[in-house]
Amino acid sequence: MSEGSIQGHVLSPVLEYLEALHAQFADHLEGEVATYIPELAKANGQWFGICLATTDGQIYEVGDSRRPFTIQSISKPFVYAAALEAHGREAVLRKIGVEPSGDAFNAISLDPVSGRPANPMINAGAIAATGMLPGDTPDERYAHLLGSLARYAGHELCVDEAVYVSERETGFRNQAIAFLLRNAGVLEDDPLPTLDLYFQQCSVLVDCRDLAIMAATLAAGGVNPLTGVRALDADHVESVLSMMGSCGMYDFAGEWSLSVGLPAKSGVSGGILATLPGHLGIGVFSPLLDARGNSVRGIAVCRELSQRFGLHLFNVPQTGATVIHRTYSADEVSSNRVRPPAVAAALQRLGRRIRVYELAGALSFGTVEVVVRDVLDKVNTQDFVILDLERVTESDFAAATCSPHSPFA
Ligand code: GLU
Repeated sequence: MSEGSIQGHVLSPVLEYLEALHAQFADHLEGEVATYIPELAKANGQWFGICLATTDGQIYEVGDSRRPFTIQSISKPFVYAAALEAHGREAVLRKIGVEPSGDAFNAISLDPVSGRPANPMINAGAIAATGMLPGDTPDERYAHLLGSLARYAGHELCVDEAVYVSERETGFRNQAIAFLLRNAGVLEDDPLPTLDLYFQQCSVLVDCRDLAIMAATLAAGGVNPLTGVRALDADHVESVLSMMGSCGMYDFAGEWSLSVGLPAKSGVSGGILATLPGHLGIGVFSPLLDARGNSVRGIAVCRELSQRFGLHLFNVPQTGATVIHRTYSADEVSSNRVRPPAVAAALQRLGRRIRVYELAGALSFGTVEVVVRDVLDKVNTQDFVILDLERVTESDFAAATCSPHSPFA
């Protein structure tokens, strides 16, 4: 019996595809492991894992998907999220900008006048976000950090002490950035404890499966699909994804957007996390980096996945007309209901001026707009519109706002 057959052991076609993808790139050993943090230089260039997690909790993983590595810059969107939750959007915006810098991750992108870092995905903005983590003592802030990341991953996480010490002992450029932030008033007190916490946050151990689940948590509006625990207030998910979308891939963000089209974040230990909102999270781990600090195989895998599965965020299937299940006028339907003769006669006479729309599926701006247009087209021949919502599965605020309730209500 061949693998993939319907009888006996059935291999999911998704898993089969991921295995083929892994095999396709397993021998691609271009790139270099990061060495500027001495401990990261110990990574093995062969390591390679891929994981997909859906928003309903299905996991597909191949290769070194359970090999731990330090999260590095992939912590940045999650710490930014924690700052948003703790202080609200306005307060965070006053300290951290939202414009792509197009510069390298460790660029000193501070606004010449305000001293505000360009965005939260480069080190300057990330250190500023770390400085906004709530807590009265370094221990409390550390606990907040780990607790928050753990909710996305769905289990407790810890710091790799060796990487943390290695980065702390060599991170002079980050020290310089932290002191500049203090000078500009973006950090409000001693920058060293914040810097220390930043080094710890970069040294949190995760694996590729964790990345996929963290990404799927963002895809699911902030709720971890495996544990059901809310990791982030739904209101902040779109801010975090926006920053990942425009600034998450260092100075490769534009090309990434073109060829992959998913909000993402990469880190110098070789991880990439990408999110397709509403659907899934992707985690890839391969420590061989290109000149911009992105995982070479990580980019290749995400590109393939996006193209093969049509994941590009701007490649949205047209759903327009499908929401109208059936439409007819009241005189076209027969009913078993016994009505007084006068009512039955009136219905027959006026029935063609009553239009019924049976709607089905998800109502959103796009799908309801089609209904509204149809109603307006018939405005001169109809007096009443009846919307039958029995088959509607969901409706968002936009759908409620533009539903045809006037002038026919
Ligand atoms: N800890 C690293 C640093 O700040 C993170 C860099 C990265 O992953 O881009 O240098």
